[in-house]
Parts: sequence; structure tokens; C-alpha cells
Amino acid sequence: MTATDPIDAGRLSLALNDLRLPAIKLVWPELAARADKEGWPAARFLAALAEHEIAERANRRIQRHLEEARLPPGKTLDSFDFEAVPMLSKAQIMALAAGDSWLEKGANLLAFGPPGTGKSHLAAALGLALIENGWRVLFTRTTDLVQKLQAARRDLQLEAAIAKLDKYHLLILDDIAYVTKDQAETSVIFELIAARYERRSLLITSNQPFGEWHRIFPDQVMTLAAVDRLVHHATIFEMNVESYRRRTAVERKRGPGRPPTRATINTSS
Ligand code: ADP
Ligand code: MG
Repeated sequence: MTATDPIDAGRLSLALNDLRLPAIKLVWPELAARADKEGWPAARFLAALAEHEIAERANRRIQRHLEEARLPPGKTLDSFDFEAVPMLSKAQIMALAAGDSWLEKGANLLAFGPPGTGKSHLAAALGLALIENGWRVLFTRTTDLVQKLQAARRDLQLEAAIAKLDKYHLLILDDIAYVTKDQAETSVIFELIAARYERRSLLITSNQPFGEWHRIFPDQVMTLAAVDRLVHHATIFEMNVESYRRRTAVERKRGPGRPPTRATINTSS
């Protein structure tokens, strides 16, 4: 066989299937034509193919992680108006979006504030950015997770169910204040918090500050222990601003013209 002999393209395709190299299978004809035309050394051609497969694998992994994360759609850091929440440092959020400084330690993020102030948006947007940076995230309404963990406990599978969540570097528990006030129901949350302590991170949003948590969770001792673990390594965002929903509704009613500021809205309400 000489260098100019054609190869059996069909057989190569099958071989690339067997080797599970779908990206190479897709691009090799085009890349080979270009290599021939431009006279690439064989090693350069091989390296280009390998790099292509690796890049595609990374893309597919991120795609899988996006699908499993169940993020609410359309919530990004780009579309988050940081001016509406002046107590948040955009630089700090951007640093947290890289992940390394806190997810490696299993540190937590806690966002407090009244309804409509962007807690869920921020949580989802951070989750999205973290996935794009290679981390694994699960976004869940706290009530949904409580239901699942309770079902697991009924099947004597609670420990296994909590261990399964370990694959997520970050678990986002949205709206912890809405869980039912039943002690058996909420205790699964405490077990989850204890299991992840200093190992895997939690991002929790809540309409109620810690001081009110004894109203959400009936067991004082358990509540204190959980709060203690949560805050031990935590960044806390107090988002005590006016509801963004309400604010934008007011702005729409005013129509275009002078840009409404927080101050003008506040004095009119
Ligand atoms: P919360 O979880 O605090 O109740 P949400 O995150 O659900 O509030 O926000 C309510 C709505 O307002 C959502 O559609 C969200 O995208 C939007 N929103 C809230 N805060 C901001 C913000 N700072 N910038 C852009 N959109 C925001
Ligand atoms: Mg919310």
C-alpha cells in the first residue's frame, strides 16, 4: 500500500464506531482533505484529530451536566441586573462562578431575602456558570427533594439516596422556607445537611432569615445544629431589596422616559 492508495472509508467508519470516536468519525474526511492539500505532516493530522475528539467530549459532558441539573431556563448572570441588588458584589459572584475556591472545600452559599428579589435567578445563574466551568450541579425545589428523600426513607434507602447526591458538587435547594412544618418531613433535610458538611456544597435560598427558621422547622435542637453547620463555611447574601417583579411592573406602567431609580420607586410606594 502506498501513501496515495485510497482507504476503505466504510471500514474506517466502523473502526471509529468500535473505538467510540464519534467526533473523529465526523471530521476526518474534511480534515484529511485539508491535510492532503496543505501537506500536513502525519503527526499534525493525528494531533488535530485527537484534539477534536477531546474538545467534543468536553462539550458532550457539559451538555449532559446541563440536562441533569434541571436549572430553570433563561436565568443567567448576564441577564442578572446587579444594580437592583446593590449589596451584592458582582466581582464576588463572578469569582464564585469559577467554583474552585469554595466547591473544593464543600463550603455553602446562602441567599436570604423577600420574594421576588432574584434569589432563585441568582442561584440558577450561578449553577449554570459552574456547569460551564466543569462542575456538576443539581437545582431542586426544596419541597421536591424532601418528598424524594422521604420516599427513600420509607424504603430504608435514605442513606443511599443522600450518597447518590454526592456526585453533585453543588446542590441548590431553592426555597427552604416552603417545606412542610412536619418534623419527620423536615428531618431528612437535616440529615442531608449533616452528610454534606465540609464535603459537598449547598446553595440554599430562603425567604426567612435564620432567626425565623424555628418557625419552619419544629425541632429546635436539630435546627440549631443545621444552621451551625451551614454557616460554618458559608457566604451569605442578604438580598433585602424591593421585589424585582414589582419594580419592573411599576417601571412598565411609568413607560419610557426618565430611567426610574430605586429611590423614585421607593418614594412612590
Ligand atoms: P426570588 O427567588 O427571590 O423570589 P426570583 O429569582 O424568582 O426571585 O425573581 C423573580 C423574577 O424577577 C424572575 O423572573 C427573575 O428572573 C427576575 N429578577 C429578579 N431579580 C432580578 C435581577 N436582579 N436582575 C434580573 N432579573 C431579576
Ligand atoms: Mg425563588
